Amino acid sequence: MDRYIDRNGFILYKSRNLTPVEHLLDFELRAKRNGHRGAVIWLTGLSASGKSTIAMETERRLFQRGYQAYVLDGDNIRQGLNADLGFSPDDRAENIRRIGEVAALMADAGIVVISAFISPYKADREKARMVARGRFYEFYIKASLEECKKRDPKGLYKKAHLGDIEKFTGISAPYEEPDSPELIIDTEKNNINDSVSEIINYIENNLKLSSNFDEKDSIVSVGN
Ligand code: ADP
Repeated sequence: MDRYIDRNGFILYKSRNLTPVEHLLDFELRAKRNGHRGAVIWLTGLSASGKSTIAMETERRLFQRGYQAYVLDGDNIRQGLNADLGFSPDDRAENIRRIGEVAALMADAGIVVISAFISPYKADREKARMVARGRFYEFYIKASLEECKKRDPKGLYKKAHLGDIEKFTGISAPYEEPDSPELIIDTEKNNINDSVSEIINYIENNLKLSSNFDEKDSIVSVGN
């Protein structure tokens, strides 16, 4: 890791004269209407460990159960908001910083955000946790490098071995395992269905509210 720069103090505030404007709705009120709290479910793990597969199935099953849920992944982020970023350590850090900020906003809006990115650096994941202000759940989608190379659904490990992809996580760039994730999903021991069920159970136990939205709450808190 010596050649990877220290990114402490990475966030720069360039704007001055920022005056906050209060929302007339708050997090708890939105949660009451939805029947669950918004949160950032942060999936991290090697390429091919199962993040996207699990994220999409989790989103589908949460939607069926009436949750507001949305997956952030390479397809909807790298081609838009982060189209200007590559895979250098700095760009990876900025990639995760922006995703962390967007995920935190969406969680504040009441959505269960499922983020599916390798996010190889601990420090970047910790920053994403910090901006989500207590609404961040790190789930380690775990599979050995050998198993991921065997799966290789997009042929990326093969390309990395041939030298066609520079700085590929696990091959020519580091992956830092989480120290104390909220959940570890071992996708070598559990099939897709069981892996997703574990996540759904966690969400039902930690984010679901027991009582439903009461119209009176909105009248009292929101005003006319
Ligand atoms: P990632 O998003 O982490 O790069 P993908 O979801 O794209 O990984 O690919 C994971 C591959 O592993 C898929 O082909 C999937 O079918 C397979 N797989 C095998 N077991 C599991 C499991 N328990 N959970 C998720 N994916 C699994």
